[in-house]
Amino acid sequence: MRIGAIEAGGTKFVCGVGNELGEIEDRVHFPTRRPEETMENVIAYFRDKRVDSIGIGSFGPIDLEHSSPTYGYVTTTPKPGWSGYNFVGTLKSVFDVPVGWDTDVNAAALGEATWGAAQGLDSCVYYTIGTGVGVGVYTEGNLVHGLVHPEGGHILTRRHPNDDFAGNCPYHGDCLEGMAAGPALEARWKAKGDTLPEDHPAWEMEAFYIAQAISNVILTLSPKKVILGGGVMKQAQLFPMIRAQVGSILNGYVSAKSIVSDIEHYIVAPKLGDNAGLCGALALGVRALDSRTNVRSSIQ
Ligand code: ADP
Ligand code: ZN
Repeated sequence: MRIGAIEAGGTKFVCGVGNELGEIEDRVHFPTRRPEETMENVIAYFRDKRVDSIGIGSFGPIDLEHSSPTYGYVTTTPKPGWSGYNFVGTLKSVFDVPVGWDTDVNAAALGEATWGAAQGLDSCVYYTIGTGVGVGVYTEGNLVHGLVHPEGGHILTRRHPNDDFAGNCPYHGDCLEGMAAGPALEARWKAKGDTLPEDHPAWEMEAFYIAQAISNVILTLSPKKVILGGGVMKQAQLFPMIRAQVGSILNGYVSAKSIVSDIEHYIVAPKLGDNAGLCGALALGVRALDSRTNVRSSIQ
């Protein structure tokens, strides 16, 4: 099988071709411009690739409701031209193949569940802590959409006692994203995250916020693995700090062995590393093809 994959990010697009084993054979990337120009690049890339299906993990918010007249659209985004853009429809008008469509973070969660850190498990959550904070949710073998899709990057957290930063989420001020995404870190400490030393107090504060989000997601969804990706999580010293704080917040209440005695293997980095996004899109493409095959075989 030849599966097309599109990691549609706010700053760059990555397109690739891979197979059902999660092996990526070819890839390209280009900056995200206005949708017409960006899609021209996407279409030109896939034109001669003869893919059997395409998976898209997209920046959002996006419409995932199959019965909606705007299914496959990017809904409301400040990115010029993308609000109300028919992403899936544009692609389908050129390529007559099944298209899998989901958020970038749901795609990453599916990729990790299929070939990465949560392989063999039927649930996981995937956080990206980068320019924003996003959460993908995979549970009982399915990606969660719900009413729109989970937006757990904007949950409210308790304020750190030494933190007087107001928060910079344009909607909520001091929500998780407003306090802990890369731009919040930079605004609070007046320095880019990658320039702060490992023992800087920024990291303890960062872990304080992320650990609250993870504790809440453990209490709400009981995932079998928590995967933390995105630029900010390149700071590997955050992992032990976050694990320790999750342990102290939960305080023994959730008595699962994974949390009480094996948290090093429970809260982890993406195993697919920087491929998490593209592999996620690949996994969506595989699913799109499988579901078409399943529909066909159930009709016959
Ligand atoms: P995006 O979220 O736009 O897809 P990234 O996941 O790379 O992209 O996140 C970018 C954010 O992460 C920026 O705010 C950047 O300052 C921050 N960042 C990137 N690398 C590091 C690092 N090594 N340490 C801390 N912060 C980083
Ligand atoms: Zn917010």
